Amino acid sequence: MPLAPLTTMRAGGSARFFTSVKTGAEIGEAAWWAREKNLPIFILGGGSNTLVPDAGFPGLVVKIDICGTKYESTHHGVCVYAGAGEVWDDLVRDSVLRNLWGLENLSLIPGTVGGAAVQNIGAYGVEAKQSIHEVEVFDIEKKELRKISGHKCKLGYRDSIFKNNKNLVVISVAFNLVHNATPHTEYEDVKKYFSDKNTEHLTPQKVRDAIIAIRTAKMPGLEIGTAGSFFKNPVVSAEKFEELKGLFPEIKAHLQGDGTAKVSAAWLLDKVGGFRGYRRGDAGVFEKQSLIVVNHGNATSTEIISLANEMKQEIKNKTGISLEEEVVMMSE
Ligand SMILES: Cc1cc2nc3c(=O)[nH]c(=O)nc-3n(C[C@H](O)[C@H](O)[C@H](O)COP(=O)(O)OP(=O)(O)OC[C@H]3O[C@@H](n4cnc5c(N)ncnc54)[C@H](O)[C@@H]3O)c2cc1C
Repeated sequence: MPLAPLTTMRAGGSARFFTSVKTGAEIGEAAWWAREKNLPIFILGGGSNTLVPDAGFPGLVVKIDICGTKYESTHHGVCVYAGAGEVWDDLVRDSVLRNLWGLENLSLIPGTVGGAAVQNIGAYGVEAKQSIHEVEVFDIEKKELRKISGHKCKLGYRDSIFKNNKNLVVISVAFNLVHNATPHTEYEDVKKYFSDKNTEHLTPQKVRDAIIAIRTAKMPGLEIGTAGSFFKNPVVSAEKFEELKGLFPEIKAHLQGDGTAKVSAAWLLDKVGGFRGYRRGDAGVFEKQSLIVVNHGNATSTEIISLANEMKQEIKNKTGISLEEEVVMMSE
């Protein structure tokens, strides 16, 4: 089964075996089948953060197609349960239409609900973890369904318990949403968007509209091959940040409570690396945002990885910082 069309980067080879599942029980069956044959398994959501090697995957790729959403009133607002295969932005749009706060800043992020929990997606000052109440998983090793409460999912910067334990397959995610909230408009681009507008009666829909306008002006649409931000923003110590400021007084970073600084990888790749709009064959860097590696047409994964390695090496040479991939390499 060719995998490139199932990913937004649209590169890479085929899966030796492929199946899609609609229930937790079907995941159990697929996992059992693969274990019997001693084959590795890879769980695929919307493929919007995954790069498939050109050699493909030598085992079973399981695409998660578990759908359905259910809204329940709670003491604090509403809890929405969404199947891991639901399209993330459909959930955001639907919750916003119901005038519920919580997910609006995460509008227009590609992928599935399951992928959003695994990656703990974030944008414009908000992370999925702020709303995740509970995650239902199928544990391949223990062959059981169980629920893990949000605070036990180790949701960190593009990180979670699921990223590090491949036996946990996300079946559904429960999000706590509220009827009234203070909108998150403090992030630079969002603040700028609202600077000449009346912000007295903001609604989830108005914030979603703002995010959509900001994102569509800056980010590539899915007509171009991409997996979004290719690298994470590196976190450096206070001493390292002082050193960097000496070298690059304009450096963009977010100072964190513990004294460390989260440096803008986009800024480093643009201003230090000069990679904005750079192109090697069909593999390139998006012209409006240097953190986004793009496939202009027929780039192979090898070419994309080679470009990414060149970017990493350049930043390492000039700053001493080792950039770490945000994109997941499909591997055993
Ligand atoms: C144009 C563009 C813009 C983007 N913008 C953002 C952004 O603003 N913020 C952000 O955080 N991300 C962003 N991303 C990255 C991506 O959209 C998110 O990481 C998304 O949540 C990935 O979901 P997915 O379903 O596509 O995951 P996939 O790419 O299919 O999988 C990603 C990882 O999660 C695992 N996985 C997927 N589903 C499950 C499951 N049910 N159970 C267990 N493991 C699973 C996979 O094995 C893999 O390791 C962007 C991507 C693109 C292409």
